[in-house]
Amino acid sequence: MPEQVITIIGGGLAGAEAAWQAAQRGARVRLFEMRPRRQTPAHQTGLLAELVCSNSLKSNSLTTSSGLLKEEMRRLDSLMIHCASQSAVPAGDALAVDRERFGALVTEALEAHPGVDIRREEAAAIPGEGIAVIATGPLTSESLAVSIQAFTGQKMLYFYDAVAPVVDAETIDRGQVYEASRYDKGEPAYLNCPMSEEEYRRFWEALVAAEKAPLNDFEEMHIFEACMPVEEIAARGPDTLAFGPLRPVGLIDPRTGRRPFAVVQLRQENLEGSLYGLVGFQTRLKWGEQRRVFAMIPGLENAEFVRYGVMHRNTFIDSPSVLLPTLQTRARPTLFFAGQLIGVEGYMESAAAGLLAGLGAARLLEGKDPLAMPEDTMMGALFSHVSSKPFHNFQPMNSNFALLTNEGLASRKRQDRKAEKAERAMEALERWKQGSVD
Ligand SMILES: Cc1cc2nc3c(=O)[nH]c(=O)nc-3n(C[C@H](O)[C@H](O)[C@H](O)COP(=O)(O)OP(=O)(O)OC[C@H]3O[C@@H](n4cnc5c(N)ncnc54)[C@H](O)[C@@H]3O)c2cc1C
Repeated sequence: MPEQVITIIGGGLAGAEAAWQAAQRGARVRLFEMRPRRQTPAHQTGLLAELVCSNSLKSNSLTTSSGLLKEEMRRLDSLMIHCASQSAVPAGDALAVDRERFGALVTEALEAHPGVDIRREEAAAIPGEGIAVIATGPLTSESLAVSIQAFTGQKMLYFYDAVAPVVDAETIDRGQVYEASRYDKGEPAYLNCPMSEEEYRRFWEALVAAEKAPLNDFEEMHIFEACMPVEEIAARGPDTLAFGPLRPVGLIDPRTGRRPFAVVQLRQENLEGSLYGLVGFQTRLKWGEQRRVFAMIPGLENAEFVRYGVMHRNTFIDSPSVLLPTLQTRARPTLFFAGQLIGVEGYMESAAAGLLAGLGAARLLEGKDPLAMPEDTMMGALFSHVSSKPFHNFQPMNSNFALLTNEGLASRKRQDRKAEKAERAMEALERWKQGSVD
């Protein structure tokens, strides 16, 4: 009898989590990751679960959708959550990590696992047989993308994502910036670059006039609202930035006792505090233009950019017509998709999909049916949303409370309803965990 193995393609957030979950349940896993031999346009290392842009995994609070999602994953023994807490850096009430350390911890855990065999190879096609999870993410290699397209029988869907620049902390003029978290929540985790109205207006004018990198590999441009480039936000009007990523609310400058007209926030990127990212500054300006325009931000006049912002293609399938809520494909129940490829957006959403696919694949190997998650949980609601609701124009989705029903809730206030939904999710998850043991 041939060896029973689960094949997982892609060692990103989703694939690494899927491998961990399946192997923890005793399955033998073969994990294909093409890096470092072959890089994507956004990854820079050979580490598994590399975070390609922001180092933030968002809020930890249970009354935020991302906090609830992380708590569910934590209760399901998520490797990503475990490694994130081991590599956390100060970020107010959010969970942010030292990117290198996070990836190194995930890589070490999977390399050391006796059930996981990591192959540093590109998988050119969907495996013809056996149990498999495809988790190759938004930058799936070309030949595999063609194979996926042939399997799903439809055009893949695309949009653009943008990366924010990172600067060397030593090159920030500390005399001009101040430490604070918005509304003084948590420890002061951000460096804030205050702008007067005059400075803001000059900056806005330079930003909207700056030259952008050409888009060469794409027919049609779809920009996902949650990752809008800063120059596109600016182009919508002279004040959009001041009400968006540069909003100064809750950021009183302790040196003046006043709120600046606008504030650019810098977030710590690594444990040492040697790197800072420009929050909300995803961009596709040409690199020389980034240096010129972003040097107009007070405190960044002489900043050294260790990483410039870039824009990249994103790829996802039309999940409503392809997937079940278990993340198995309708056409072939031994084949799962996970991660950003299924049309979820975000690091943790992607990892959560890997978690469910890994669990389902392990159950299948044991001769059991994979289980969908209850729709009262954030994970269940998200996967139900991407897999089974009818769409005219399917677009990627983040975790959010609107996916969880208001039915049966006692509270009237929105904030209280969130707390109720979170409580209900925890109960549903615990019941599901009991049921999924057998
Ligand atoms: C430029 C950019 C910026 C982003 N910024 C953010 C952000 O700030 N915050 C956020 O939450 N999300 C962000 N995202 C989304 C982020 O990529 C996803 O949320 C997350 O990384 C997706 O996880 P994944 O496991 O699906 O894919 P990935 O993490 O990309 O992992 C897929 C893996 O598959 C590998 N692979 C691809 N093809 C093959 C093949 N044929 N054979 C073997 N291996 C293969 C790749 O090398 C990669 O390691 C960004 C995405 C992009 C592209």
